[in-house]
Amino acid sequence: MLQTPITYLKGVGSARAEILQKELGIKTYGDLANLFPYRYVDRTQFYKTNQLHAIDTEVQIVGKIIHLKEVKQKRGSRLVATFSDDVGSIELVWFKGIKWIKEKLKINVPYVAYGKTSVFNRKFTISHPELELVTEYKKNLRTAMQAVYPSTEMLTKRGVSNRVISKMIQELFLTIKGKFSETLSKDICEKLALYSKDDAMFSIHFPKSQADLSKAQFRLKFEELFYIQMQLLRKKLLHKTKIKGFKFDKVGSYFNDFYTNNLPFTLTNAQKRVVKEIRKDINTGAQMNRLLQGDVGSGKTIVALLTMLIALDNGFQATLIAPTSILAAQHYESITELLQNTNITVSILQGSSKTKERRIIHQQLESGELQILIGTHAILEDKVIFKNLGLAIIDEQHRFGVKQRAKMWTKNTFPPHILVMTATPIPRTLQMSLYGDLDISVIDELPPGRKEIQTLHKYDKNRLAVFKFMKDEIAKGRQVYVVYPLIQESEAMDYKDLMDGYESISREFPIPKYQISIVHGKMKPEAKEFEMNRFIKGETHIMVATTVIEVGVNVPNASVMVIESAERFGLSQLHQLRGRVGRGADQSYCILMSSFKLSPEAKLRLKTMTESNDGFKIAEVDLKLRGPGNLMGTQQSGILNLKIADIVKDNKILKLARDAASYILQDDPNLEKEKNRSIKHTYIQITKKQGVWMYIS
Ligand code: ADP
Ligand code: MG
Repeated sequence: MLQTPITYLKGVGSARAEILQKELGIKTYGDLANLFPYRYVDRTQFYKTNQLHAIDTEVQIVGKIIHLKEVKQKRGSRLVATFSDDVGSIELVWFKGIKWIKEKLKINVPYVAYGKTSVFNRKFTISHPELELVTEYKKNLRTAMQAVYPSTEMLTKRGVSNRVISKMIQELFLTIKGKFSETLSKDICEKLALYSKDDAMFSIHFPKSQADLSKAQFRLKFEELFYIQMQLLRKKLLHKTKIKGFKFDKVGSYFNDFYTNNLPFTLTNAQKRVVKEIRKDINTGAQMNRLLQGDVGSGKTIVALLTMLIALDNGFQATLIAPTSILAAQHYESITELLQNTNITVSILQGSSKTKERRIIHQQLESGELQILIGTHAILEDKVIFKNLGLAIIDEQHRFGVKQRAKMWTKNTFPPHILVMTATPIPRTLQMSLYGDLDISVIDELPPGRKEIQTLHKYDKNRLAVFKFMKDEIAKGRQVYVVYPLIQESEAMDYKDLMDGYESISREFPIPKYQISIVHGKMKPEAKEFEMNRFIKGETHIMVATTVIEVGVNVPNASVMVIESAERFGLSQLHQLRGRVGRGADQSYCILMSSFKLSPEAKLRLKTMTESNDGFKIAEVDLKLRGPGNLMGTQQSGILNLKIADIVKDNKILKLARDAASYILQDDPNLEKEKNRSIKHTYIQITKKQGVWMYIS
């Protein structure tokens, strides 16, 4: 029944069917039933024309059109109807589709007009109202909570109004009369006192009360999240059982000697906890696939190194891959320094490595003489063959494709353990649904003694004061970043801004007293690297750049980050950029420059930045502002195309759903028990349609 094509429904001809499919993806009865309202309005209340006061509220009024005129305006014209009841009148206005509407409107016949009020020429006005003849209106079921369905411009234009959709859905429910089979188990429904599928489907479209609606929503949101969690958890389960990995059960002298003799500081509790989590994970016999999250400066490198030492203790080699050669070089430097009192062999391999160096590295890798290899994508080339690679660590995940990660697998009999390090905080609310199949470790604590970065918001007119401040800091021996936005859509303009900015800075900070580096995307990689290195070595005072420096260079002496047109950056980007300073012992500053005119959202972003240094908090605000689709790494994730649940707001339901799914899978991993039959059936239906594997890395 639910598979019936929508054309068979009374009132839906082939033209409408076509547009429903095109605009809303509705092909069958079932699809239409699953078009959930996104809000509800009260259609039992009527207003009189003299009872209107607040603007921008939705009202319905019974009255008659007593006059109709077309008014010419600058572009085209508008249609204005005087709509009267027994106490006064208001105006109804149309700007589009005038010809068609004019023909249809009946003069002096009672209508129900419904829409949002506004005031125009000191008269109350409803533009593009929904109009229904009172005789028609009376035929329909009206409740205090009338559903409003998602629509598109095209639908409205083609006359498929909310009223039309409501009618179709009424017709649908009359036709199918409760044909929704239960999709959850009796167990769950009882335990959580959930509405049955049938009740929920009816009440979501035709709620009798707020309470009735809440129960329907709860049930449907739960169901949606439950099946996502089932897929994620099952994937994780399969992964654990199917993909065998090396069992690292020894913690030996490499680790222990380093830990007792060479550790330059005491680990933070978060670092200790994370190392423990990793140790446990690589000792199970299954391949580790773990995401290590930690804000910039939280100390991920030492965790990476300790993990590599465990690999060495178990007789394996380890590799660390970074997204750029500058980063790879920095890792190489800090790791060789940490290991200077050991006899562990470490090399670096990058695109620019000389043939002779390469040959040596290749040989030593194959013989097993080389224990740790640090580098860039160059490591993934086919010529690079390890004797026994046991662990691959990948820095800054979002710069690295899934394909490349998969490539590591081909380098050995078993895939090596994989640890992906990222400084992009994924809001806790999202972790579960997005990476439910990955294991996650979080370093949520900064090493002691860090000075909080002070963040200030300044308007462009304060630029001179900002220059003065930069000079003072440079006089103290510090270095300064000045970053300009570079957005693809406005690339040409942005380059001009960058160059203009560079010029004015050059004027303000003249040679030879001041040295300035500039780095942007149009430069050749070698030129970029040259300039970056000048700054890293402290030869230049100011680094003017586009967002290319986002990637994670470490210049502890840089203590000021000036972000130009900060209102144009997203929150997570601002936070990443700010993370470039505050790496040394000195007090650091982040100065957000903006124009005076700011949108409310931009204001909130800048305010959030000045108030918080906590990447997770910032990520949560970002999530609320932009929605999950825009967060780093979630773009392709179809998992966020939820029908009814909201991953942020329905966090509690998400947790319930996850617990329920996890409980069921523990008890019945393959859903073979009779009591889980409806779950199994639904699960198969869903995965057939859209296997979760497709959209998760
Ligand atoms: P990130 O997580 O951004 O990669 P790093 O590993 O580069 O951070 O660490 C940032 C800085 O903090 C480094 O200079 C490192 O030596 C230092 N550091 C890391 N852990 C600690 C600790 N527990 N105590 C003191 N300093 C630490
Ligand atoms: Mg790092």
